[in-house]
Amino acid sequence: MRLEVPKPKVQETVTLPERLVEFMKYANELIVQEDEAATISSDDLIQLEEARGYLLAYGGLKEDDGSQFAFCYFAAPKQTRKKWQFELSREQIVDIAKGRLTELTMWACSSPDCGCKFQTPDDTCFYCDYEETPAT
Ligand SMILES: [Zn+2]
Repeated sequence: MRLEVPKPKVQETVTLPERLVEFMKYANELIVQEDEAATISSDDLIQLEEARGYLLAYGGLKEDDGSQFAFCYFAAPKQTRKKWQFELSREQIVDIAKGRLTELTMWACSSPDCGCKFQTPDDTCFYCDYEETPAT
Protein backbone atom coordinates (compact mmCIF):
# COMPACT_ATOMS: atom_id res chain seq x y z
CA MET A 1 0.00 0.00 0.00
CA ARG A 2 1.09 3.56 -0.66
CA LEU A 3 0.98 5.75 2.41
CA GLU A 4 1.22 9.53 2.37
CA VAL A 5 4.36 10.59 4.27
CA PRO A 6 4.90 14.28 3.48
CA LYS A 7 8.50 15.51 3.48
CA PRO A 8 9.45 19.10 4.25
CA LYS A 9 9.82 21.32 1.19
CA VAL A 10 12.34 24.08 0.59
CA GLN A 11 11.21 27.60 -0.24
CA GLU A 12 12.84 29.03 -3.36
CA THR A 13 12.50 32.10 -5.48
CA VAL A 14 12.83 30.96 -9.06
CA THR A 15 13.42 33.07 -12.12
CA LEU A 16 10.86 32.04 -14.71
CA PRO A 17 12.60 30.11 -17.50
CA GLU A 18 12.19 31.41 -21.04
CA ARG A 19 10.17 28.32 -22.02
CA LEU A 20 7.67 29.03 -19.30
CA VAL A 21 7.47 32.70 -20.26
CA GLU A 22 6.69 31.63 -23.85
CA PHE A 23 3.87 29.46 -22.55
CA MET A 24 2.49 32.34 -20.49
CA LYS A 25 2.57 34.59 -23.56
CA TYR A 26 0.50 31.95 -25.35
CA ALA A 27 -1.90 31.68 -22.39
CA ASN A 28 -2.20 35.47 -22.33
CA GLU A 29 -3.07 35.53 -26.05
CA LEU A 30 -5.84 33.01 -25.48
CA ILE A 31 -7.18 35.12 -22.61
CA VAL A 32 -7.05 38.33 -24.66
CA GLN A 33 -8.80 36.61 -27.60
CA GLU A 34 -11.39 35.21 -25.19
CA ASP A 35 -10.65 31.80 -26.61
CA GLU A 36 -12.78 29.04 -25.10
CA ALA A 37 -9.60 27.43 -23.81
CA ALA A 38 -9.25 30.39 -21.46
CA THR A 39 -12.90 31.10 -20.64
CA ILE A 40 -14.19 27.60 -19.82
CA SER A 41 -13.00 26.04 -16.59
CA SER A 42 -10.71 23.08 -17.15
CA ASP A 43 -7.54 21.38 -16.01
CA ASP A 44 -5.80 21.38 -19.37
CA LEU A 45 -7.54 23.32 -22.16
CA ILE A 46 -4.55 25.65 -22.36
CA GLN A 47 -1.66 23.51 -23.50
CA LEU A 48 1.44 23.81 -25.61
CA GLU A 49 3.32 20.92 -27.15
CA GLU A 50 7.07 21.38 -27.30
CA ALA A 51 8.03 18.22 -29.12
CA ARG A 52 5.74 15.62 -30.64
CA GLY A 53 3.89 13.97 -27.78
CA TYR A 54 5.50 16.10 -25.09
CA LEU A 55 3.77 19.04 -23.48
CA LEU A 56 5.76 22.03 -22.32
CA ALA A 57 2.99 23.00 -19.94
CA TYR A 58 -0.75 22.82 -19.54
CA GLY A 59 -3.40 24.45 -17.43
CA GLY A 60 -6.76 26.08 -17.36
CA LEU A 61 -9.22 28.38 -15.72
CA LYS A 62 -10.16 27.10 -12.28
CA GLU A 63 -13.78 28.26 -12.22
CA ASP A 64 -16.13 29.59 -14.89
CA ASP A 65 -16.07 33.41 -14.81
CA GLY A 66 -13.13 33.26 -12.42
CA SER A 67 -9.74 34.87 -12.86
CA GLN A 68 -7.52 32.24 -11.27
CA PHE A 69 -5.70 29.70 -13.45
CA ALA A 70 -3.90 26.51 -12.43
CA PHE A 71 -0.85 25.31 -14.38
CA CYS A 72 1.54 22.44 -14.62
CA TYR A 73 4.93 23.08 -16.24
CA PHE A 74 7.48 20.44 -17.18
CA ALA A 75 10.85 21.92 -16.25
CA ALA A 76 12.89 19.49 -18.34
CA PRO A 77 12.08 19.08 -22.05
CA LYS A 78 10.60 15.71 -23.06
CA GLN A 79 10.12 14.67 -19.46
CA THR A 80 7.08 14.50 -17.27
CA ARG A 81 9.08 14.07 -14.09
CA LYS A 82 10.20 17.59 -13.09
CA LYS A 83 6.83 19.22 -12.62
CA TRP A 84 6.06 22.68 -11.33
CA GLN A 85 2.48 23.12 -10.15
CA PHE A 86 1.15 26.58 -9.44
CA GLU A 87 -1.73 28.99 -9.80
CA LEU A 88 -1.70 32.45 -11.29
CA SER A 89 -4.26 35.21 -11.52
CA ARG A 90 -5.15 36.72 -14.88
CA GLU A 91 -3.14 39.83 -13.86
CA GLN A 92 -0.06 37.75 -13.05
CA ILE A 93 -0.25 36.03 -16.45
CA VAL A 94 -0.34 39.45 -18.14
CA ASP A 95 2.60 40.61 -16.02
CA ILE A 96 4.66 37.54 -16.96
CA ALA A 97 3.79 37.90 -20.65
CA LYS A 98 4.83 41.58 -20.56
CA GLY A 99 8.05 40.85 -18.66
CA ARG A 100 6.96 42.72 -15.53
CA LEU A 101 6.87 39.59 -13.38
CA THR A 102 9.96 37.41 -13.71
CA GLU A 103 10.08 35.42 -10.49
CA LEU A 104 7.83 33.13 -8.49
CA THR A 105 8.18 31.85 -4.96
CA MET A 106 7.88 28.09 -4.97
CA TRP A 107 8.30 25.18 -2.57
CA ALA A 108 10.66 22.55 -3.93
CA CYS A 109 11.11 18.93 -2.96
CA SER A 110 14.27 18.58 -0.92
CA SER A 111 15.28 15.39 -2.73
CA PRO A 112 17.97 16.53 -5.21
CA ASP A 113 16.83 14.23 -8.01
CA CYS A 114 13.13 15.15 -7.83
CA GLY A 115 12.84 18.60 -9.38
CA CYS A 116 9.17 19.10 -8.52
CA LYS A 117 8.07 22.48 -7.23
CA PHE A 118 4.80 23.57 -5.68
CA GLN A 119 3.12 26.76 -4.64
CA THR A 120 2.53 25.89 -1.01
CA PRO A 121 4.57 23.82 1.47
CA ASP A 122 1.54 21.58 2.00
CA ASP A 123 1.36 20.31 -1.58
CA THR A 124 2.07 16.62 -2.01
CA CYS A 125 4.69 15.27 -4.39
CA PHE A 126 3.66 12.10 -6.20
CA TYR A 127 7.26 10.86 -6.11
CA CYS A 128 8.63 11.97 -2.73
CA ASP A 129 5.71 12.10 -0.33
CA TYR A 130 4.51 8.50 -0.43
CA GLU A 131 6.06 5.34 0.93
CA GLU A 132 5.29 1.75 0.17
CA THR A 133 4.37 -0.17 3.27
CA PRO A 134 6.39 -3.37 3.33
CA ALA A 135 4.43 -6.44 2.39
CA THR A 136 4.39 -8.62 5.46
ZN1 LIG B 1 9.32 15.35 -5.12
